[in-house]
Amino acid sequence: NPALTQFGNRMSQLTGVRAIMKDIKQTLQANKGQQFINLSPGNPVILPEVEQLWRKYTEELLSGSDYGSVVCRYGDSQGYESLIDAVADDFNRRYGLSLTHQNILITPGSQSIYFYAANAFGGYAKNGQLKQIVLPLSPDYTGYGGVTLIPEALISYKPQLDIDASAHRFKYRPDFSQLEINETTGCVLFSRPCNPTGNVMTEDEVLKIANLAAPYDVPVLIDSAYGPPFPALNFTEMSPVFGQNIVHCMSLSKAGLPGERIGVAIGDEKIIQVLESFQTNMCIHSSRYGQAIATKAIASGALAELSTKVIRPYYQQKFVIVESILDESMPQDLPWFLHRGEGAIFAWLWLENLPITDWELYQVLKKVGVIVVPGSSFFPGLREEWAHKNQCIRISLTATDAEIAEGMRRLAKVVAEIYQKS
Ligand code: PLP
Repeated sequence: NPALTQFGNRMSQLTGVRAIMKDIKQTLQANKGQQFINLSPGNPVILPEVEQLWRKYTEELLSGSDYGSVVCRYGDSQGYESLIDAVADDFNRRYGLSLTHQNILITPGSQSIYFYAANAFGGYAKNGQLKQIVLPLSPDYTGYGGVTLIPEALISYKPQLDIDASAHRFKYRPDFSQLEINETTGCVLFSRPCNPTGNVMTEDEVLKIANLAAPYDVPVLIDSAYGPPFPALNFTEMSPVFGQNIVHCMSLSKAGLPGERIGVAIGDEKIIQVLESFQTNMCIHSSRYGQAIATKAIASGALAELSTKVIRPYYQQKFVIVESILDESMPQDLPWFLHRGEGAIFAWLWLENLPITDWELYQVLKKVGVIVVPGSSFFPGLREEWAHKNQCIRISLTATDAEIAEGMRRLAKVVAEIYQKS
């Protein structure tokens, strides 16, 4: 559109999975009579206990004396003071930190943290040098594809594959022989646990990345949208990693509050200040109502408890179903590999040497009533050609047990036929 600026053009495009979601919506609308097993959503399931928790704290807010001062006025850009207190207290106690107010920023969802950081630290520096936004392990969250106003600033790296062939399992690892973090790096960003793969980078891997970035004062943003203490969607042992140049980023979305838009950035004061100013200019602050009920849920400890007792087991058990049905119904002699399910709300399947593309597989699966997300949308910033990009699909763990089981059986049948035909 010639009426738009470069930024206007850039921001008026749908990136990655958003384009596919449109196709899925159209498919569902055009085939109203047909029962689809929809294994595409990234929206968390509304669990009754979680809904009840937010209802309870909403009622408390409504009947409390502070209602007017919370909801009927603007607040600090940095966030609602009581929420900042609650996060600082919780993290200091839980992880033995000494966070103060200056280390914390509340944002309208965590996606906005990545937008601020990508454009404050990535893009063209004052001297004209291009500062890169480095995604150290591709595939990663599709939303990173849209966070920068300068598309050429985004770069991601092909991972190493740790394959257990006989078990049909694999795991991605950062490839440190390729990864470049140096004076041209503006910031580093990755999700842990990872959407779409369920990968949890090890503590050693995280520290290695942070140590590569430290000499250049490069912020490392660790997207913990699925991490502990809430929503605690890690199925394997993991602890958050903190450090001078690490910004620990959290989201309340997967803990049942996606619509209220609450993200939390925890890090060095100097970095937090930059992000806060960006936020002031862009949108002033996050919803005060959401922040107020989040305060109550965090300060009481109820959110962290519900996360480990209800939210985590719910999805972990869904992953077990994916695994067991695939083990049962996928042909043993085909090169299929399920990514180790270490967290998040997705399973990630790699079909090595798949005779058709992931997009074509998505179309074939639609014909048997199963909707998944083709994997190629999860490689933002990856510039090299890599056949693997077109050999993966993402399977959401948000469907019912029966739907997931039936979906996996149909998938196995379709996949077997595709390999057979070639
Ligand atoms: N990061 C990851 C890895 C996600 O999966 C999502 C949402 O799906 C987000 C960030 C954005 O979440 P929020 O709702 O906090 O903006």
